[in-house]
Amino acid sequence: TARNADLKALIRTIPDYPIPGIQFRDVSTLLLDGAGFRATIDRLAAMIEAEEVDLIAGIEARGFIVAAALSYALGKGKVMLRKKSKLPGATVGIDYALEYGTDRIEMHLGAVKAGQRVLLVDDLLATGGTALAGAALLRGQGAIVDKAMFIVDLPDLGGAQRLTEAGIEPITLLV
Ligand code: IMP
Repeated sequence: TARNADLKALIRTIPDYPIPGIQFRDVSTLLLDGAGFRATIDRLAAMIEAEEVDLIAGIEARGFIVAAALSYALGKGKVMLRKKSKLPGATVGIDYALEYGTDRIEMHLGAVKAGQRVLLVDDLLATGGTALAGAALLRGQGAIVDKAMFIVDLPDLGGAQRLTEAGIEPITLLV
């Protein structure tokens, strides 16, 4: 069985992407490794009780990959938090600030019911801005969002701290 350090070694770092000075953690190389991805999902699934979750929310695009696998592992449904204008039905959305400019995520109206406990899922936690936007969107529909799950945390960027301050426990496998 792989150690977490072995799983971490499957994630490559690409310097100066998307802009000079950024060290981009590229999980695509972990996704190429079937045993590594399975171990990653098995470990994440073991970090939460299925009873604590009514629904899983995946953030486009890499978050969908993690959310789909966790949905299968935990036997829970999932809702897609999509980038702007991708969903065919009536949507509700939220704009959020990026380092440069803004972005928008949307979900189908009625996908989440008030009082449901939704586990937010993405591949990586950096500043936490994306996850906080997802949580605000879900909470706006009455969902309870008190946990968020990621393969990787970049602790220097403060996301875990920001999530905790917003009442969301970050659950991460690799640092
Ligand atoms: P945050 O909003 O600053 O926490 O950034 C997290 C979001 O941006 C997630 O959706 C990630 O997929 C993506 N992201 C930011 N930095 C990286 C990185 O180094 N590698 C992979 N994804 C990243």
